[in-house]
Amino acid sequence: MALKIKTIAVTGLKTIGILDLETPDLRRGEVLIKVHAAALCTLEQRIFQGEVKMPLPCTGGHEVSGEIALLGEGVNPKKWAIGNRVAVRLLYNCGECYYCRTGRTNMCERALKKPVREGLLIGPGGLCDYIIVETKDLFLIPESVSYEEAALTEPLACCVHSINRGNLQFGETVVIIGGGIMGQNHVMLAKRKGCRVIVSEVDANRRKLARQLGADITFNPLEHEPVEYVRSLTDGRGAECVFNTTSIPSVVPQAIEMAGKGGSVIQYSSMHPDVPTPISPQKLHGNEIILTGSISPNAEDFFVANRLINYGIIDMKPLIAKAFPFEEAQKAFEASIVPGTFRVIIKN
Ligand SMILES: [Zn+2]
Ligand SMILES: [Zn+2]
Repeated sequence: MALKIKTIAVTGLKTIGILDLETPDLRRGEVLIKVHAAALCTLEQRIFQGEVKMPLPCTGGHEVSGEIALLGEGVNPKKWAIGNRVAVRLLYNCGECYYCRTGRTNMCERALKKPVREGLLIGPGGLCDYIIVETKDLFLIPESVSYEEAALTEPLACCVHSINRGNLQFGETVVIIGGGIMGQNHVMLAKRKGCRVIVSEVDANRRKLARQLGADITFNPLEHEPVEYVRSLTDGRGAECVFNTTSIPSVVPQAIEMAGKGGSVIQYSSMHPDVPTPISPQKLHGNEIILTGSISPNAEDFFVANRLINYGIIDMKPLIAKAFPFEEAQKAFEASIVPGTFRVIIKN
């Protein structure tokens, strides 16, 4: 039943093409999804700009929502129906490696080795007009949630994972360094965990948005010495938890200094380039600082993010910068790499 589909692909440096492909047949337990919204994440932007090398053409798109267009054999008709509106989890995990077996699917050894189906392109593959997925990767969304919002389930899930690693408690002080989309997600989530939220961000518009989304205090680290400022707000102790959502390596030692005794520091963002930076082992020892990182959501985090959006607990609308039609994918990619832009979405 091969169906002709269109895919948005990176075909060269800063060049997007729309290619015609044919889907393979549905396997047992799979459904065909008509994609309605796909967001352009940092990964897609880095491939577009040649910072992440992939064999070209390749198709990005791992932040996706759409509706069920066809049910494969063996799909439970009591649970799933044509027309169901869904957020789609496109992150791959093998299910067989040590990390998958021990419930840490986000650290799967084969996470970046998703098998490529016959006729399709390498890459997460959500930037197509139709995609094939297993029902375990579908999360229903109600009419009250737009496809654009639902496409942002994955970035929210990333931050759910990060916030859980901080083990936040009521009344604690949390510092979030950076007010980009991921920093703003951290703000909303930390507030809902009952914390006092301080945001360090140089851009005035982002500080304003952070306050609108619930941050208690925002400051410009170029105007206030960040460590002194955070200590001044915490009786000289430092915060219980510090999240670095920037990809500036020199911020890491600063984050450790901002944490009080027994505090945690979570390195959320990836580093490109990854410049080694000196930290004080004595500080970790003497203050019992927990220093850790957070990478990708696991399947449970995706489920939680879907509920937070569906129940209206977290509103993703302020984080959507602009939407472009499928045919204007080149323009969408160009818009997505303008510094300071939140999520750009391709609609279909
Ligand atoms: Zn993403
Ligand atoms: Zn695995």
